[in-house]
Amino acid sequence: MEPWMLACTYCQRKYPLDRLNPRCEPCGEPLEAISPGPGTINKVNPLTQTLVDRYAAFLPLSPVDRDLTLGEGFTPLVRSDRIAHRLGMKSILFKNESSNPTWSFKDRGTAACVHHAVARGVTKIGTVSSGNMAASVAAYGAMAGLDTYVFVSARMPKEKINPIAIYGPTIITVSGDYGALYYESLSLGERNDIYFINSDVPLRVEGSKTIAFEICEQMSFAVPDYVIIPTSSGGNARGIMKGFDEFKRSGLIDRLPSFICVQAEGCSPIARAYTAQHDRIEPYLHAETIAHAIENPYPPSGNEILRQVGAGKGIVTTVTDAEILAAQSDLAAEGFFVQPAAAVPLAAAVNLRRRGYLSETDTVVCILTGSGLKYTAVFEHYRFPVREATLENLEDAL
Ligand SMILES: *Cc1c(COP(=O)(O)O)cnc(C)c1O
Ligand SMILES: [Zn+2]
Repeated sequence: MEPWMLACTYCQRKYPLDRLNPRCEPCGEPLEAISPGPGTINKVNPLTQTLVDRYAAFLPLSPVDRDLTLGEGFTPLVRSDRIAHRLGMKSILFKNESSNPTWSFKDRGTAACVHHAVARGVTKIGTVSSGNMAASVAAYGAMAGLDTYVFVSARMPKEKINPIAIYGPTIITVSGDYGALYYESLSLGERNDIYFINSDVPLRVEGSKTIAFEICEQMSFAVPDYVIIPTSSGGNARGIMKGFDEFKRSGLIDRLPSFICVQAEGCSPIARAYTAQHDRIEPYLHAETIAHAIENPYPPSGNEILRQVGAGKGIVTTVTDAEILAAQSDLAAEGFFVQPAAAVPLAAAVNLRRRGYLSETDTVVCILTGSGLKYTAVFEHYRFPVREATLENLEDAL
């Protein structure tokens, strides 16, 4: 069997898997891991197994180190008949990624990257993020005993830094163009042998494939019609698409779902290029949305998402902050408290059903990417009624 390689998503130029810089030299586009062939699921008791172990045949991570885990993945896929009924649809299911170790799907990619880093003898990891990615990388760096560097914007408020700092990484606040920091960190990493786990590096995309793998297993290999993904850098959407693709090539499923990549209207560089039928994204000026986790104004995998949907894999669309808040509230009414970015798929489902894009016979899976407790500042948009009582008149308050 051929070894795993990296290849450019645009020009197909090949690179060794161990290359630290995740972008193509001549064209600057993201690299992706190319698997040597079909795989099978390592079906042993999932309660005694790690995520990487179960899907080892689909990941460039052998030998598997079963100690390098915080228990990522294996998240619930929950059906909501009530929401389906309200939307007039056959079936809507929620893949609840808030039950990951640091409460977002980021842990899947981080686990894969840390595995890769340790296997190749790297002792330093890093990331550019102030949100879920930073917390995830800091937690896995602590678990694996690696030196961990987190670059955050100098404008970051302390409340957002503390939940990263608790894991003990080296945090560096950086002033200047935050978008340029992504590229700067990559060359810094190459020079200093720091494995930067940024938004769309190849092994992070590999980790996100496991979302697709689990959905297939949880649906007994019946494929949903649509998978709706909140999209920022594009790394997670690329991973989910790649996962379904590889299960199909391995004969585990017989068709692909259609993918709906959703951006917040206030920061929608990919959607804007898609609507204008451009094949390259432009930086989005004055980005502003309540869904901070998907507020990347110049997504590093934006062009690749355009290529994928352009090849017929799906569409890119947007939702407004008002639609996002309504969906967050609707999800909470079902028992899911997710952050605004993670409410984006339901907001899109409501919108696309109203416009007739989704039909009543469709089965839809929404990826709930992260927990609501990560962003409690959202409460300023809510007013919750609270009743008051004394011990004496408590019964009257019921
Ligand atoms: C990172 C993140 C996203 C966006 O994922 P990308 O891979 O950057 O497109 C969506 N939702 C949440 C909660 C996230 O943390
Ligand atoms: Zn290239």
